[in-house]
Amino acid sequence: MDNAVQLTGLSQPELVTFVETLGEPAYRGRQLFAALQHRRLRSFDEITDLPKDLRARLSEVARAATLKIESRYISDDGTRRYLMKTHDGLPVETVFIPEERRDTICFSSQSGCPLQCTFCLTAQLGLLRSLTAGEIVEQIHIALNDAYGTGVKPPRGTNLVAMGAGEPLLNLDQLLKGLRVMSDPQGMHIVPNRVTVSTAGVVPRILELAQISDRPHLAISLAAPADELRNELMPINKRWPIQELLSACRVFEKTLKPNERLTFEYVMLDGVNDSDEQARQLANLLNRHNIKAKVNLIPHNPADPLPYRPSTDETVERFKNILESKGIHTYVRRPRGREIFAACGQLAARQVPLNIETLVGANT
Ligand code: SAH
Repeated sequence: MDNAVQLTGLSQPELVTFVETLGEPAYRGRQLFAALQHRRLRSFDEITDLPKDLRARLSEVARAATLKIESRYISDDGTRRYLMKTHDGLPVETVFIPEERRDTICFSSQSGCPLQCTFCLTAQLGLLRSLTAGEIVEQIHIALNDAYGTGVKPPRGTNLVAMGAGEPLLNLDQLLKGLRVMSDPQGMHIVPNRVTVSTAGVVPRILELAQISDRPHLAISLAAPADELRNELMPINKRWPIQELLSACRVFEKTLKPNERLTFEYVMLDGVNDSDEQARQLANLLNRHNIKAKVNLIPHNPADPLPYRPSTDETVERFKNILESKGIHTYVRRPRGREIFAACGQLAARQVPLNIETLVGANT
């Protein structure tokens, strides 16, 4: 692009300051914030309550939206995946998952990902770049506008999970900035309590996040109960091995609110990390560190060319029972949107020829 300011990443006070630098009164900033963040408008032309000459000036120096929707895929279970492009042509993916009592939007924190988890398709893209706060916020605007109509208040609560492409804790500043914008009651009002950030285990950032009072919930991707296997599946483990990771989790745990739990995610790979012995090892590991977490078992979402198969339903159930018998709350996550490459670890900017609706140039 140009040097235009991405307005979707600015908080209300920042937008006020911004319009003041253009010689406009503060209330214009508040008006603009409501238009972008509450009404989820994505072009200055639509903000008809602003004077025309101001809109013209704004479009010279700023952008109301920067992401372009390339394609949308809708799965039979209602899951929607959006493939978008940044102004500099990089892929961004977001998944909207409707559930009975709430919707969950899974957003990306980076385009591609620098980590090299062997079971994840996104890893194959490498890191293209970290997303800006505005690009993070816009993913939510796009998903909500598409699901309900521009600016329409969602009928259910919206939960957010930073589990799309990228490692959110390697982009913590922009992520927190985006979350602050989204939590504004005059905007989307999605509070941190509705947000979960998932990490492969960037220990210093876990400790940093622990210090922040209005922080989101945290989930840790574990995938193995011991270093040897984890080094292989998640190379980040060589930098921050399990012992260090769990010590950081202990520190984080002390800052949890009364009903809040730390979550561990465990992708289940057939014949790799799903034996009874590994279930016992995992339970002992968490118990030894005295961590009262819950564990989410995620059956592997296969994708060519990943060299794994998902564990069978029976194995997942057995694994779960062993963990539960050792006092660990365990849940099995149902895959959503696998056939449209919308499930965990499948985001790699794939164009699939199924249920495809190409919205090139559309800017919902
Ligand atoms: N980088 C962050 C967030 C993105 S991954 C992290 O590692 O947590 C989100 C979740 O999807 C992680 O728990 C990851 O372990 C899981 N995952 C990755 N690839 C998967 C796959 N192919 N099948 C199932 N889960 C997968």
